Amino acid sequence: MAYDPDNIFAKILRDELPSMRVYEDDTTLAFMDMMPQAKGHTLVIPKEAAVDLHELSNVAAADLIVKVQMIASAVKQAFSADGITIFQLNGAAAGQTVPHIHFHIVPGSLLGAKGHAAAQGDSDEIAADAELIRAALHNLHK
Ligand code: AMP
Repeated sequence: MAYDPDNIFAKILRDELPSMRVYEDDTTLAFMDMMPQAKGHTLVIPKEAAVDLHELSNVAAADLIVKVQMIASAVKQAFSADGITIFQLNGAAAGQTVPHIHFHIVPGSLLGAKGHAAAQGDSDEIAADAELIRAALHNLHK
Protein backbone atom coordinates (compact mmCIF):
# COMPACT_ATOMS: atom_id res chain seq x y z
CA MET A 1 0.00 0.00 0.00
CA ALA A 2 1.39 3.39 -0.98
CA TYR A 3 2.06 5.76 1.89
CA ASP A 4 -0.55 8.54 2.11
CA PRO A 5 1.28 11.73 3.16
CA ASP A 6 -2.05 13.16 4.32
CA ASN A 7 -2.86 10.44 6.85
CA ILE A 8 -3.74 11.70 10.35
CA PHE A 9 -0.38 10.88 11.90
CA ALA A 10 1.57 12.49 9.03
CA LYS A 11 -0.47 15.64 9.71
CA ILE A 12 0.27 15.38 13.44
CA LEU A 13 3.99 15.03 12.63
CA ARG A 14 3.81 18.24 10.55
CA ASP A 15 1.79 19.94 13.32
CA GLU A 16 -1.13 20.40 10.97
CA LEU A 17 -3.36 18.62 13.49
CA PRO A 18 -3.21 19.01 17.28
CA SER A 19 -1.76 16.28 19.49
CA MET A 20 -0.83 15.87 23.13
CA ARG A 21 2.87 15.17 22.75
CA VAL A 22 4.81 13.48 25.52
CA TYR A 23 8.13 12.86 23.74
CA GLU A 24 9.87 13.95 20.56
CA ASP A 25 13.33 13.57 19.08
CA ASP A 26 14.84 13.55 15.59
CA THR A 27 13.31 10.20 14.64
CA THR A 28 10.35 9.63 16.93
CA LEU A 29 7.17 11.20 18.29
CA ALA A 30 5.01 9.94 21.15
CA PHE A 31 1.59 11.36 21.92
CA MET A 32 -1.62 10.48 23.69
CA ASP A 33 -4.26 8.36 21.99
CA MET A 34 -7.39 10.53 21.89
CA MET A 35 -9.65 7.47 22.00
CA PRO A 36 -7.85 5.71 24.83
CA GLN A 37 -8.63 2.08 25.53
CA ALA A 38 -7.41 2.67 29.08
CA LYS A 39 -6.00 5.56 31.09
CA GLY A 40 -2.51 6.43 29.80
CA HIS A 41 -2.89 4.92 26.30
CA THR A 42 0.08 6.33 24.39
CA LEU A 43 1.17 6.05 20.74
CA VAL A 44 4.77 5.97 19.51
CA ILE A 45 5.46 6.69 15.84
CA PRO A 46 8.61 6.98 13.74
CA LYS A 47 9.10 10.09 11.62
CA GLU A 48 10.02 7.86 8.70
CA ALA A 49 7.09 7.53 6.29
CA ALA A 50 5.95 3.90 6.47
CA VAL A 51 2.49 2.38 6.47
CA ASP A 52 3.37 -0.61 8.61
CA LEU A 53 6.18 -2.67 10.08
CA HIS A 54 6.88 -4.40 6.77
CA GLU A 55 7.65 -1.08 5.09
CA LEU A 56 9.76 0.42 7.87
CA SER A 57 13.53 0.42 7.30
CA ASN A 58 15.66 -1.80 9.55
CA VAL A 59 17.36 1.25 11.03
CA ALA A 60 14.07 2.97 11.88
CA ALA A 61 12.60 -0.27 13.28
CA ALA A 62 15.58 -0.79 15.57
CA ASP A 63 15.41 2.81 16.76
CA LEU A 64 11.64 2.69 17.25
CA ILE A 65 11.62 -0.34 19.53
CA VAL A 66 14.20 1.30 21.80
CA LYS A 67 11.97 4.38 22.03
CA VAL A 68 8.93 2.19 22.71
CA GLN A 69 10.87 0.52 25.52
CA MET A 70 11.79 3.88 27.04
CA ILE A 71 8.30 5.38 26.79
CA ALA A 72 6.71 2.19 28.11
CA SER A 73 8.96 2.47 31.17
CA ALA A 74 7.74 6.02 31.72
CA VAL A 75 4.09 5.02 31.25
CA LYS A 76 4.57 2.14 33.70
CA GLN A 77 6.00 4.53 36.27
CA ALA A 78 3.46 7.29 35.62
CA PHE A 79 0.48 5.04 36.33
CA SER A 80 2.13 2.71 38.86
CA ALA A 81 1.14 -0.10 36.49
CA ASP A 82 2.05 -3.65 37.44
CA GLY A 83 1.91 -4.59 33.76
CA ILE A 84 2.01 -2.86 30.37
CA THR A 85 0.45 -3.96 27.09
CA ILE A 86 2.29 -3.07 23.86
CA PHE A 87 0.69 -3.79 20.50
CA GLN A 88 1.08 -2.83 16.87
CA LEU A 89 -1.41 -3.56 14.07
CA ASN A 90 -0.41 -4.13 10.42
CA GLY A 91 -3.07 -3.71 7.75
CA ALA A 92 -6.79 -3.05 7.85
CA ALA A 93 -7.39 -6.79 8.07
CA ALA A 94 -5.56 -6.73 11.40
CA GLY A 95 -7.58 -3.72 12.57
CA GLN A 96 -5.09 -0.94 11.67
CA THR A 97 -7.05 2.29 11.24
CA VAL A 98 -4.27 4.85 10.70
CA PRO A 99 -1.83 4.00 7.87
CA HIS A 100 1.37 5.26 9.52
CA ILE A 101 3.11 2.62 11.63
CA HIS A 102 2.73 3.06 15.38
CA PHE A 103 3.04 1.15 18.61
CA HIS A 104 0.32 1.31 21.25
CA ILE A 105 1.35 1.40 24.91
CA VAL A 106 -1.47 0.71 27.35
CA PRO A 107 -1.09 0.44 31.13
CA GLY A 108 -2.44 -2.87 32.36
CA SER A 109 -4.35 -5.42 30.32
CA LEU A 110 -6.61 -5.05 27.29
CA LEU A 111 -8.98 -7.51 28.93
CA GLY A 112 -11.83 -5.33 30.11
CA ALA A 113 -10.38 -2.27 28.33
CA LYS A 114 -12.48 -0.02 26.08
CA GLY A 115 -12.93 -0.76 22.39
CA HIS A 116 -10.25 0.06 19.81
CA ALA A 117 -10.54 3.64 18.46
CA ALA A 118 -14.11 3.55 19.70
CA ALA A 119 -14.83 6.69 21.72
CA GLN A 120 -13.23 10.09 22.28
CA GLY A 121 -11.67 10.37 25.73
CA ASP A 122 -11.99 13.29 28.12
CA SER A 123 -9.46 15.89 26.92
CA ASP A 124 -8.72 17.32 30.36
CA GLU A 125 -8.10 13.88 31.77
CA ILE A 126 -5.85 12.91 28.84
CA ALA A 127 -3.92 16.18 29.22
CA ALA A 128 -3.32 15.40 32.90
CA ASP A 129 -2.19 11.87 31.98
CA ALA A 130 0.22 13.34 29.39
CA GLU A 131 1.75 15.50 32.10
CA LEU A 132 2.30 12.44 34.30
CA ILE A 133 4.12 10.68 31.45
CA ARG A 134 6.28 13.75 30.69
CA ALA A 135 7.24 13.92 34.37
CA ALA A 136 8.09 10.20 34.41
CA LEU A 137 10.24 10.60 31.27
CA HIS A 138 12.00 13.49 32.94
CA ASN A 139 12.71 11.29 35.96
CA LEU A 140 14.06 8.51 33.72
CA HIS A 141 16.55 10.94 32.20
CA LYS A 142 17.81 12.29 35.53
P1 AMP B 1 -4.59 1.63 14.75
O1 AMP B 1 -6.03 1.18 14.61
O2 AMP B 1 -3.67 0.57 15.29
O3 AMP B 1 -4.12 2.21 13.43
O4 AMP B 1 -4.57 2.75 15.83
C1 AMP B 1 -4.82 4.10 15.58
C2 AMP B 1 -5.02 4.76 16.91
O5 AMP B 1 -5.00 6.15 16.70
C3 AMP B 1 -6.36 4.43 17.59
O6 AMP B 1 -6.12 3.90 18.87
C4 AMP B 1 -7.07 5.77 17.64
O7 AMP B 1 -7.80 5.93 18.83
C5 AMP B 1 -5.93 6.76 17.55
N1 AMP B 1 -6.23 8.04 16.95
C6 AMP B 1 -6.94 8.29 15.84
N2 AMP B 1 -6.93 9.62 15.55
C7 AMP B 1 -6.16 10.20 16.52
C8 AMP B 1 -5.76 11.54 16.77
N3 AMP B 1 -6.12 12.56 15.99
N4 AMP B 1 -4.98 11.78 17.86
C9 AMP B 1 -4.60 10.76 18.67
N5 AMP B 1 -4.94 9.47 18.48
C10 AMP B 1 -5.72 9.20 17.41
